This record gives sequence, structure tokens and C-alpha cells, in this order.
Amino acid sequence: MIDDDKFHEECGVFGAWNVPDAAAITALGLHALQHRGQEATGIVTHDGVRFHSHKGMGLVGDNYGDAKVMAALPGSRAIGHNRYATTGETVLRNVQPLFAEFEFGGLAVGHNGNLTNAHTVRRALTRRGCLFQSTMDSEVFVHLIAISLYSNVVDRLIDAVKQVIGAYSLVALTQDLLIGVRDPLGVRPLILGKTKGADGKVGWVLASETCALDIVGADFVRDVEPGEIVLIDDRGVESIKPFTPAPPRFCVFEYIYFARPDSVMEGVSVYNARKNIGRVLANEAPAEADIVVPVPDSGVPAAMGFSEASGLAFELGIIRNHYVGRTFIEPTDQIRHLGVRLKHSANRAMIEGKRVVLVDDSIVRGTTSQKIVAMVRAAGAKEVHMRIAGPPTTHSCFYGIDTPERGKLLAARNSVAEMAKLIGADSLAFISLDGLYRALGKPGRDAKAPAFCDACFTGDYPIELTDQAEPRESQMSLLAELR
Ligand code: AMP
Repeated sequence: MIDDDKFHEECGVFGAWNVPDAAAITALGLHALQHRGQEATGIVTHDGVRFHSHKGMGLVGDNYGDAKVMAALPGSRAIGHNRYATTGETVLRNVQPLFAEFEFGGLAVGHNGNLTNAHTVRRALTRRGCLFQSTMDSEVFVHLIAISLYSNVVDRLIDAVKQVIGAYSLVALTQDLLIGVRDPLGVRPLILGKTKGADGKVGWVLASETCALDIVGADFVRDVEPGEIVLIDDRGVESIKPFTPAPPRFCVFEYIYFARPDSVMEGVSVYNARKNIGRVLANEAPAEADIVVPVPDSGVPAAMGFSEASGLAFELGIIRNHYVGRTFIEPTDQIRHLGVRLKHSANRAMIEGKRVVLVDDSIVRGTTSQKIVAMVRAAGAKEVHMRIAGPPTTHSCFYGIDTPERGKLLAARNSVAEMAKLIGADSLAFISLDGLYRALGKPGRDAKAPAFCDACFTGDYPIELTDQAEPRESQMSLLAELR
């Protein structure tokens, strides 16, 4: 189905330079980043002479647990990628890192995020004769690098990134360099770490989140800055900033839902951020109740904060089955309904006869909340008060978080009171936008210069949506051309 094919992905990226057994380190890093993508995974290594690659569908553990796969990935330099796509074609040609041979040598590229002018650039490139092999944004980079008139790879890369618009983090590997790129507004994360090198000197690591450093025992050095390109080789890290400086707009949804709670992003612990959000939420929207119950796992830290600020007891009134993968519950609405029941069950002993505050991170379509509220009522709750650790999701994300089209977002069509009715809760409240900013250590939301990208809650899209301006039919015909 053409309509199912998406150009955007949520993903996790990792890179290693001068690290013993770089493929194993990268596999571990990707394992820690598994929450950012479960559909497919890939690693490209370089052994000083040539590149090696593995791409496979499914989880990190399903791919790199195989000794034969690992033995075929020698070298002390590597990049890796986890891909997340809830719908769309699941084919190996859409698995990253992408690899291409150029006149300057090989280049492997992995990216997290979404280019908002990918269709437009692709169309232009296709007309020039570029033959696209996949439906991924990252391939646009590869072709732009290929046709650039500059001679060296760094100048070609700069030339390429200046022609794309979007929210992305990129890791790339050449025979001479590990490269990291963060989009000009720094919407998507990328961090730099240090470890013991293959030769006793320094080894370098790039990753989407700090939890990927912890698993391999690497030290956090810093966030790659918005609009920065880092060039890593045995001499160290060189930084270049080819874009016009702009106020950063890190994705606020990374704090609310997407990142792992043990990660630190832009100096803020994701766990503390979520707990703070829960505290602010309890003050903004208190509830007369007996217990606070998180929707696990994403609602847990916010529910702890809610409990602390409200004085209501925190109880695990819903138990999550950890053996249900995210991918299993995704595509159709019907499966989603089934998925919620597979994933969560009510802990009747905790819930029966109680007035329950349920805390979750977000309401997207509303399917999860509806099922959970019904489940908690069926387990004997006297009242169910839903509290959400993010403002109402009223707009789709075009910057790399997979959200349904606007018409399917519950909050885009309904008031909070209507939503409460639809999900069957006695009351429903969301954290305010200002409250969210305060929970993240800001004075509030400065409408003229917001500190974060919060487009999913406000419709204030900080990066031009070039492709959205294209008529839908021409996008579809381009997709058809690509098949
Ligand atoms: P829904 O049933 O569509 O309202 O989904 C809401 C649930 O999905 C929440 O419990 C979130 O934890 C989770 N969620 C929110 N955003 C995403 C996303 N982009 N991808 C996958 N799950 C999400």
C-alpha cells in the first residue's frame, strides 16, 4: 500500500572510533537504544582496509547474538542504527546504515529524524538521473554528496546538509573519519562520549542518548551542539558549524516519552524531568483520590512525582507484561486494542474499591487510555481520574516522532471534557504548556522564543514543512515512481 510508506522514522544511532571490537560495542550501544527503534538494525564497520556490513530485520539481540554475524564485522570503527517504523514496507533496502562507494572511497550513513524537504529534494535528484534504492531520507544525503562538486568528503557533506531542511542527527563513517551531525535547531539528540581506545589512546563514541554510553562504560563528554558537525579521527574531535546560528529547539517529547529515563539530554535528566512534570501536574490538577497508579512504563516517573506532591500513595495498580514487544502492538487499530490487553493488566488487589489517579505520558489516538480506564474500572475502581504528563497532542510531528495524521489525534478534534467522556474517565487533566516548561527548569514558555520544539502541542513548527506544501497527489506519484 503506497499510502503506508512513510519517509519519516524514529531511530537510534551509534558510532565508535578507535574502539576495540567496535561492532560489539556498537551492538551494545544499539541494545541500550532499542526503545528508539525495533523494526530493523544495521552495523557498518571499517577494519582499516575495507568496510563490512550487516543489516537485519527485528531486534538487536536477534541479530548480533549470532557469533558468525559478529565475526564478519571486524574493525575498531563502526556506526550502527536502529530503525522504528510503525507502518510501511518492511524491507532490507530500507534498513540503515546506508553504504555507498564514491570516488573518495566508501561512506556509511545512519540517521535519526526526518527531513521536511525530502520529497522535494528527491524529486529534483530523480529528475537529474539519481537512482534511489530505498524510500529513506538518508539516501538524499548520499546522492547530494555524490553529485557535489567539492572534492573532499567533508566539504561534500557540508554542501549536502545545507540543501536539506529537517530535524535530524546523523552518524557517518568514511575510511578516515567518524562524523556526527546535528540539525541546526538541535531538535533530535546526539551526544559525544569517550572511552579507552583500541591502542591505549582515546576511543570516541557518538550516540542518540547517554544510556548507550553507560552500557559500554564510556564517559559522557558533551552533547553535540545544534548545527554542529564533529569530525573524529585519531587526532581527536574537530568541530565545524556550517549553519547560520539559530536559537535551539530541542524536542520536548524526548523528555515526556521517547528517551530512556536514565538518559541525560541537554544537561537534564529525563527521569528528573518526568518526576518534575508529575509534581507540577499534581499541583495544577489535583484529584480527590486514594492512590496514584502509573500506566507502565512511560507513566512511572511522572506518577512518582504526582504521588510525592499530592501525598497520595503510589501503587503499581497496573502490571506490564515485558515480553510483549512494541512492534507487536503497532500497526492496525484492531491490533492496538488487542495489544493493550496483552501488555497491561489490572492489579485488582490494589485497585478494588479505590479512587484511582491514573498517570500516563500522553494521549495520542486515545485507544490506550480508553482500554486502561475500562480495565481499571472492571477491576473494581470506584473512580478513575486520568492525568497526562504532556499537554494535549493536537498536531502531528514531522520531525521524526511517529504520530498519526492530525485527524486521528484525539485532542485535535475534542475538548478535554469531551476526551474525558470518550475515554470514560471521571476526570481528565493535562499538564499545561507553561507547567511543562517550568518542570524542565524554564521560567515558562516564551511564545516569541520557545526553548523547545513543542509543535505537537502547539502547531508552532520551527522548521519549514516544505513537503507538506506539495500536493498530496504529487507525493503519492513520487512514491509510485520509486517502486
Ligand atoms: P494512543 O492509544 O494512540 O492514545 O497512544 C498513547 C500511548 O502510546 C501512550 O501511553 C504513550 O505511552 C504511547 N505513545 C505516545 N507517543 C508514541 C509514539 N510516538 N510511538 C509509540 N508510542 C507512543
